[in-house]
Amino acid sequence: KVRTRIAPSPTGMMHLGTARTAIYCWAVARHFGGEFLLRIEDTDQERSTPEATQVILDAMKWLNLNYDNAGHVTYQMNRLSRYKEVVDQLMEKGLAYKCYATKEELEQMREDQKARGEKPRYDGRWRPENCAGKPIPEGVTPVIRFRNPDDGTVTWNDGVYGPIAINNSELDDLVIMRGDGIPTYNFAVVVDDMDMEISHVIRGADHINNTPRQINLYKAIGGEIPTFAHLPLIHGEDGQKLSKRHGTVSVLAYEELGFLPEAIFNYLARLGWAHGDAEKFSREQLAEWFKLEDCSRSAAQFNMDKLRWLNHEYIKEADDERLAKLIEPRLKAKGADLSRNLDLVGIVALLKEREATLVELAEGAMLFYRDNPIDLAVLDECIKDAATSQEACRLFLERSKDMEWKREDINTLIRSIMKELKIKMPHIAIPLRVLVTGEKHTPSIDATLELFGKERVRGKLEEGLT
Ligand code: GLU
Repeated sequence: KVRTRIAPSPTGMMHLGTARTAIYCWAVARHFGGEFLLRIEDTDQERSTPEATQVILDAMKWLNLNYDNAGHVTYQMNRLSRYKEVVDQLMEKGLAYKCYATKEELEQMREDQKARGEKPRYDGRWRPENCAGKPIPEGVTPVIRFRNPDDGTVTWNDGVYGPIAINNSELDDLVIMRGDGIPTYNFAVVVDDMDMEISHVIRGADHINNTPRQINLYKAIGGEIPTFAHLPLIHGEDGQKLSKRHGTVSVLAYEELGFLPEAIFNYLARLGWAHGDAEKFSREQLAEWFKLEDCSRSAAQFNMDKLRWLNHEYIKEADDERLAKLIEPRLKAKGADLSRNLDLVGIVALLKEREATLVELAEGAMLFYRDNPIDLAVLDECIKDAATSQEACRLFLERSKDMEWKREDINTLIRSIMKELKIKMPHIAIPLRVLVTGEKHTPSIDATLELFGKERVRGKLEEGLT
């Protein structure tokens, strides 16, 4: 059975790269009708926080990345006794041993190796065969090391990179459990992936060096080796690894920046994987099309303009009521009085053709919530023939009195006044805009006036024309 997992460490935000890995894991599971699981790797006690765990859960939820097993989450810190059990088994088989080397001693060892021009590696000084009769130092809490094979090569067929081979001579005896009984990453990940029966370990290419060590552990413990697939990292537009320097790398920050989760989902999925020239696709399409072999082997470049374009595509097709709900808190934060009876859904429908993010949509909608004082200076500076424009606005005020307040009717009235006074659209639309909204640039004048509401428009005109 195909089973994938995302295994983030709760040490801060959820990085875009982790989210992309999660999306691919999800897609592989869905593609094969398997399961996608979530594991929190919280063994780094100094850096892991409950808040950071919550951020991961929130980000998964925001992206609509549902994990299976009834939403069960595995926490490594709940599994310490299981790790101990496996360590004991390895010790019994002679595949793991206690190492009493002190920090200082190991540092010295590395210094000496470097001085001899060798690559620093643990020299096996506490391997049972090397320390017969050696006194156990007092006051040193031992760590447990895995006895890595000395010879041969570790090979695997990477789901993205293809065949990879590493010589065991490149590897040393890894610490698998610290003195305090907490397992190290490489060990815990193997025990967990075995116990969770993970079939495909999909993760960032920064873990490629860990994989041969983990494969040796699988062999020692006697577990079935999963398919490993490593994903190239995401780069910023300058070709460097994507980091805070490039701006925002936290998934949830993109919610704040006004992106829709389905746009981020689609964008991240496309970043490093392609299906023909498809740029916009649904989750279902991704699940249907996704193949690890189609992932790129070189780093993908994060491109804000492309993300904005995609977000705009999703905004344009999003339900207006949903968009209105999404921008309400943003409007409130900007001081909009939402109890005012404005047609926010209509406003959103008008603006979404031109605004690429929720932030911009909210900013655009504020036009209708602000009450700009009438600024005659602005009016003066943007109309050519003041008398005619005044006359045009006056006629509009007069004739709109008993009119039905629909944009078509507003448009018809404006056009009839233009004809009568022999003026062009700007000569009436700009003064109307400035008098009603206090701004020169607004969406089309008929829609803007309709959404401002009849009473409010007429009140403003009365005020401005006296
Ligand atoms: N906790 C590791 C990370 O955040 C997981 C790596 C893996 O998937 O094995 O990078």
